[in-house]
Amino acid sequence: MTLLETRNLSKTYAGARGTVVQAVSDVSLTLGAGEVLGVVGESGCGKSTLGRTILRLTEPSGGQVLFKGQDITALKPRAMKPLRRDMQIIFQDPFGALNPRHKVSHILAEPLIVQRVGDGATRSARVAELLDLVGLPPEAAGLYPHEFSGGQRQRIAIARALALDPALIVADEAVSSLDVSIQSQIINLIASLRRRLGLAILFISHDLSVIRHVSDRIAVMYLGRIVEMGPTEAIMSAPQHPYTRALLSAIPRAGGARGQRIVLQGEVPDPAHPPAGCAFHSRCAQATEVCRKARPPLAVHAGAPQEVACHLYP
Ligand code: SF4
Repeated sequence: MTLLETRNLSKTYAGARGTVVQAVSDVSLTLGAGEVLGVVGESGCGKSTLGRTILRLTEPSGGQVLFKGQDITALKPRAMKPLRRDMQIIFQDPFGALNPRHKVSHILAEPLIVQRVGDGATRSARVAELLDLVGLPPEAAGLYPHEFSGGQRQRIAIARALALDPALIVADEAVSSLDVSIQSQIINLIASLRRRLGLAILFISHDLSVIRHVSDRIAVMYLGRIVEMGPTEAIMSAPQHPYTRALLSAIPRAGGARGQRIVLQGEVPDPAHPPAGCAFHSRCAQATEVCRKARPPLAVHAGAPQEVACHLYP
């Protein structure tokens, strides 16, 4: 069952000197119930803005967001409130996301209080259940966020996101601020919660080596657009888009060996002045004249299970 769908979703911001910054452009994707879609791309590619626009934490500039078949693009805050139970977010910085003046018991009960779910006793029972779900002891309820390590704080942030038993979680760089050893623990926790609870997750990261461990499918973003999207196995074993190939070439292989590294030339273009044609052409070693003039659509091409936006594939 399709839980979430975006149709040509776009988000623009006003830039300096009257320019328009196109943060997200024409993004169309689906996410099934219980599915994990990894969204990957360099810093500034629009992936976090995409997640926030889907949740209506920032207003879309164009296109549609459908959740459980309902168009939520223009719903008023009052109509969105009950839906928020079903759509939660985990942020990159768990310390900034947790109120330092509140004990964990209050932090975890707060979503239940805001949504008027249960009474004091049932909320306390839910807090204990949530701590157990994320692998923290019951005594954690009586402590403050500063009394935990970074990994434990992210477990608390995950528990809070689960408090209302959501169907969808947007995990926005949820492990990026953690040490590598702690990253793998949190990734394993998210993967296990997804299996146990049937969660759908939009897993946003700049790191393809993280994304591949949790995702059923991967969407690769460049300058606000999806340039390749498909099953994780297909993207990791046979990437089609030159940008995806470059991202993949930076990941060490089994045993620490690297294949031939593709080093991208130049910087990501200014989203206030995106290049004409294919936005990647200024950094693409395979660019031809047509790439500078016409933007390739995201489309399936013969022989590959993924969609690709590149003129190399007619
Ligand atoms: Fe490179 Fe052209 Fe493909 Fe863009 S369309 S990725 S510039 S080959």
